Amino acid sequence: MRSLAIIGGGASGLCAAIEAARGNADVTVFERMPKAGKKLLATGNGRCNYANCDLGAQHYCGNAVFLRAVLTSAYADTEEFFRSLGVLPSYEEGRLYPRSHHAASVRDALLAAASECGVTIKTDTRITGVSKSGTGFLVMTADGERSVFDAVILAGGGKAAPVQGSDGSCYAILQSLGHTVTPLSPGLVGLTVRDKSLRLLKGTRVTAKATLYAGSDAIGAETGEIQFTDKGVSGIPVLNLSNLCPGKDRLTLSLDLCHDVNEEELKTHISSFIQRHPDARTELLLGGLVPAKIAYAVMEKAGLPPETRLAELGAGRAALLCATLTDFRLTVTGTRGFDDAQITCGGVDTAEFDPKTLMSRKERGLFACGELLDLHGECGGYNLHLAWTTGRIAGSSAALYLNN
Ligand SMILES: Cc1cc2nc3c(=O)[nH]c(=O)nc-3n(C[C@H](O)[C@H](O)[C@H](O)COP(=O)(O)OP(=O)(O)OC[C@H]3O[C@@H](n4cnc5c(N)ncnc54)[C@H](O)[C@@H]3O)c2cc1C
Repeated sequence: MRSLAIIGGGASGLCAAIEAARGNADVTVFERMPKAGKKLLATGNGRCNYANCDLGAQHYCGNAVFLRAVLTSAYADTEEFFRSLGVLPSYEEGRLYPRSHHAASVRDALLAAASECGVTIKTDTRITGVSKSGTGFLVMTADGERSVFDAVILAGGGKAAPVQGSDGSCYAILQSLGHTVTPLSPGLVGLTVRDKSLRLLKGTRVTAKATLYAGSDAIGAETGEIQFTDKGVSGIPVLNLSNLCPGKDRLTLSLDLCHDVNEEELKTHISSFIQRHPDARTELLLGGLVPAKIAYAVMEKAGLPPETRLAELGAGRAALLCATLTDFRLTVTGTRGFDDAQITCGGVDTAEFDPKTLMSRKERGLFACGELLDLHGECGGYNLHLAWTTGRIAGSSAALYLNN
């Protein structure tokens, strides 16, 4: 049997290891953490959203031709792969979770399958370098161990959530082997905002339509639950919009807090409420539309003290209230960074890899998969699906390469 080293025992590396071992390769996985698959336990808030029924290209970002080739398999393939490992799905609005609702089921199933097919996993072993050695590759550990393998798969993930093991070290290894890395930035990450309303809003959640602007251009919009934090905003709509931030400036986020009410209906409701309750305080009107803390923030942004009587508003300030409810504007100062990010945007240039095999076009016997590649998706199981799929392609192709 010819030997294969896999650098990284995360989502993509474990799938690559299983497929390669099933294809008769002698597989060693090097994982720098004490146990492989640590990040998986944190995914989907501990429940691991491992795939999505809608795998449309609009949910992904990266080289379109490459993505089409890599994602030819339907979500059903991922579902079937995990079923065969004993993980049955539970569906929530198209998202797949393990029936147990515990991410550990997914991680444990992968580890059991890897062990069953004879994969060796060397934990607490950080790889610091890979170089060409004859027809194979010399793999070096941080402890100074050196061993030669017939082929190598790099599966070390990106730079997001380094506490889970992915510290970005595999980018440098691929660069040393002649590959190009596109600019990297944190993705699926909370946004930091400058707005005095945060002191009122931190800890609050509200359903809204969030539109991200670069200057006066709307560059993306998402609807769902927005969470206010001490430094900014988070929640699935914000995480998805954060992927659009790299390279853009003068960013602002507009929250439509009444996105599900027709604008005319909202105006009519406000004016008739004012006519019927002229002596009521403005907070009574807003309290019927948005949570109390949001109501105070809206009044503050509109420059109205909460005790303002509705009769005192006048048409201009009533219109201002309506406009603030539908365009609650926050100045975006940046993102929470790689420490808080779920993924990395950017990565190893996919043009340098064959999408059918994920083998390097520069170095035969060298493969890459997972988040390391310059591909990423939205929240909803898209990134893990990409990791499983690319890992499985790289693993089975490496086995074929070794057997030829
Ligand atoms: C909090 C959180 C929640 C998430 N939730 C979801 C979700 O529900 N659904 C979804 O689709 N995606 C989710 N993601 C994203 C998803 O987890 C990643 O896209 C996916 O894990 C990437 O897989 P990977 O194998 O490429 O990298 P990783 O899973 O990061 O694995 C890389 C592995 O390589 C190891 N490694 C790195 N460098 C070296 C080295 N030099 N030597 C040895 N070992 C090394 C690391 O320790 C790590 O174990 C989430 C991410 C985070 C952080």
